[in-house]
Amino acid sequence: MIITNQDSATATALKDQLVAQNPDLLIFQHAQNLALPTVKTVANLPIELPAGAQVILNHHAAVQSTRAFHPENTVITTPHSEIGDGSLVIMAGPDSIESAEHVAQMATEVHAVGATVLRGGSFKPRTSPYSFQGVGEAGLIAHRQAADAAGLDMVTEVLDPRDVDVVDQYTDIFQIGTRNMQNFALLKAVGAKRKPVVLKRGMSATLDEFLQAAEYIAAGGNTQIILMERGIRSFDNKYTRNTLDVGAIAVLKQMTHYPVLLDASHAAGERALVTPLTLAGVAAGADGFMLEIHDNPDAAFVDAQQAITPAHMGEIVTKARQIHAIVRGE
Ligand code: PEP
Ligand code: MN
Repeated sequence: MIITNQDSATATALKDQLVAQNPDLLIFQHAQNLALPTVKTVANLPIELPAGAQVILNHHAAVQSTRAFHPENTVITTPHSEIGDGSLVIMAGPDSIESAEHVAQMATEVHAVGATVLRGGSFKPRTSPYSFQGVGEAGLIAHRQAADAAGLDMVTEVLDPRDVDVVDQYTDIFQIGTRNMQNFALLKAVGAKRKPVVLKRGMSATLDEFLQAAEYIAAGGNTQIILMERGIRSFDNKYTRNTLDVGAIAVLKQMTHYPVLLDASHAAGERALVTPLTLAGVAAGADGFMLEIHDNPDAAFVDAQQAITPAHMGEIVTKARQIHAIVRGE
């Protein structure tokens, strides 16, 4: 249930009254709106509503993610980026941190072609336990140094709730990967932090499941959430690794106030497809995108087939900015 009040002072007073009646009541406030995810009918409210209050019933289970609760876009500010403010944010870097020298060089190169966030995994979710698993904390240190030297923010994946604190020591933005979108312990662990989280859509997740995963983070008090569409499993993965759900980008922009980014590298799985899919996502209204780059793509430790050069990235950025300007009516 959402209760829309005349103003935020009325909402705060009502919230205080409700909490006084029932200290365990789950209640979230945004300006004049109160969300009560566990209350289903007005009859279940322990007090009378103030005059002018409107109740929205049967609301989405991920109530905090909805525009009914939070109409205006969430804007996330990091040292070098504004995410969700109408600009086009670009996150790029190698799939994995390979060495300190390599990530430092990649940082300079992606910065030169428009990135403000440096990606790279030091803890890698691999389908096989025998594949390269990432270099661990040494990679976090190298990643942080490379980002700082180039004037970039850092985003990196956290795989395990036990690693959240160590990753937190280095990163500006947590990344929760596709394979962990419904790792509820991990979602709660980043929900307890006060730092932005890129949440990637599970490869078989519906949009409602995606938003409920985001809600786990918000329920912990961390509402700095960035949603990322990265392709879903469909019936044909012969020519594309996943199926980029362009429609999801447009739908999410309507449903939710969180920034929506796309990752065409993992959707495509093939470097020749990264340009068209990225441009399609920007045309659908994405607030930005992530790209996997490498100076010698075929030699990338992980995901070599989808890696593109920084020069290729530069071409995408130029075209994407043109499309973004059209979408914004500029
Ligand atoms: C990644 O970003 O390197 C990654 C593993 O992505 P995903 O979780 O989308 O597969
Ligand atoms: Mn990858």
